[in-house]
Amino acid sequence: MLSSEFEPVIGLEIHAQLLTKSKLFCSCTTQFGLGDNENTCPVCMGMPGALPVLNEQVVTFSLKTGLALNCKIRETSVFSRKQYFYPDLPKGYQISQYDKPICENGFVEYFLDGEKKHVRIDRAHIEEDAGKSIHNGDHTLINLNRAGVPLLEIVSAPDMRSAQEAAEYARTVRQILLYLEVNDGNLEEGSFRCDCNVSVRRRGAEKYGTRTEIKNINSFRFIEKAIEYEIQRQIDCVISGEKIVQETRLYDPDKNRTFTMRSKEEAHDYRYFPEPDLLPLKVSERQISTARESLPELPIARATRFAEQYKIPTGDAVVLTSEMSLANYFEEAAKVSQNPKASGNWVMTELMRELNNAQKKVSNSPISAYNLGQLILEIDKGTISGKIAKNVFLEMWSTQKDPARIIKEKGLVQISDNSAIEKMIDEIIAANLSQVEQYRSGKEKLFGFFVGQIMKISKGQANPELVNELLKAKLGTSAK
Ligand code: ADP
Ligand code: MG
Ligand code: ZN
Repeated sequence: MLSSEFEPVIGLEIHAQLLTKSKLFCSCTTQFGLGDNENTCPVCMGMPGALPVLNEQVVTFSLKTGLALNCKIRETSVFSRKQYFYPDLPKGYQISQYDKPICENGFVEYFLDGEKKHVRIDRAHIEEDAGKSIHNGDHTLINLNRAGVPLLEIVSAPDMRSAQEAAEYARTVRQILLYLEVNDGNLEEGSFRCDCNVSVRRRGAEKYGTRTEIKNINSFRFIEKAIEYEIQRQIDCVISGEKIVQETRLYDPDKNRTFTMRSKEEAHDYRYFPEPDLLPLKVSERQISTARESLPELPIARATRFAEQYKIPTGDAVVLTSEMSLANYFEEAAKVSQNPKASGNWVMTELMRELNNAQKKVSNSPISAYNLGQLILEIDKGTISGKIAKNVFLEMWSTQKDPARIIKEKGLVQISDNSAIEKMIDEIIAANLSQVEQYRSGKEKLFGFFVGQIMKISKGQANPELVNELLKAKLGTSAK
């Protein structure tokens, strides 16, 4: 049986740490990297009698995110206890939301290879993070700094059909969270975590196959590779008649394979019940509309607008909106230069290349959007050629001077004076009489040689169009 007779089915659970200053139910700081167990108090250490108090900022961030993911907001959501034992879970239960989550029934859209994808969101609910166990030879240490940090768990429907589609979905969700400034998008530090549920079924079958869940993958590339591996493993299982067991698996990037971590627990194992120490969470229409008004223009809407308004290809618009600060940069440069097409090209090629090489973010670019716009204006006014502009750009990058100053100081103004160019042409003709003869007797190719010579003695500053025009007039036609 061939692999192509099977269809993969993928659903993602994303845990995003909300960027609040304090934890979900206490006033401990969420700051990363403090000393072990320094960010703790009786509430997040699970002391008997300590009571949780809900952080309002968490609600605001969850509303923004839910709306950006096109979810319905539940007027009354309920916190529940999810009980399990783990040494880094001091209360013996996690406060989460279960049957009544704050956000439900949304969707995310994105482009993959020019095709629009639509993935449904089942729910997004608030929960607290656990602490961290640090295994050290024959003993284990517990750090509770992370215990009680607020998370939003975003659960997709099983709507994805390839590893690539799943990775792109995860990238899109991350991008939206970054636009909203509710999450720092850091996969390596674990503030954006992605669990991948994977199953396979025969093409045409209606029922989903048994799924496995791959946990703790810390890069988008590994998300894609882990899912690819898991799809093939399951297909091989089905073909050889082996039963797929519902379980949690881990991905090993070095070996590029997944392996069993534990068998899958079911919801009823957790004995969920409504958290008696917290009231149901009510949100008003007003809170929802305030959150809606605070939403920025989101990536896909912004990309669509860029393509229409600035008449640039959709692919370019998608790149330019990949980050909010990049999109802002582009729009400012386009406004200053009045040339969106050129602005987009400069941003996507020269600017992004230099930022990449220097490992800098666009917000720290040594060239401001205003100055890039000015540079493009200088080209469009004919002050400098596009080629010279690339050198000016590099000079701007290293000195942070504005383009007009660099052009003036270095004497780079394009030569567009007919008599000056004619003088150069005469000089080149006089020095290359035999080439002139060859050209006139039919060796047309030599025209480029003359252009090159003139550009050289003008240090690249002669206006190329004028050079062409005047040179043609001087040399006459190349007759056979
Ligand atoms: P749980 O909460 O026990 O992990 P859920 O039913 O909430 O289970 O599903 C968790 C995730 O698994 C969701 O993202 C969902 O889309 C995905 N999922 C559910 N069934 C399948 C399946 N058969 N194949 C792939 N993914 C699935
Ligand atoms: Mg799960
Ligand atoms: Zn605390």
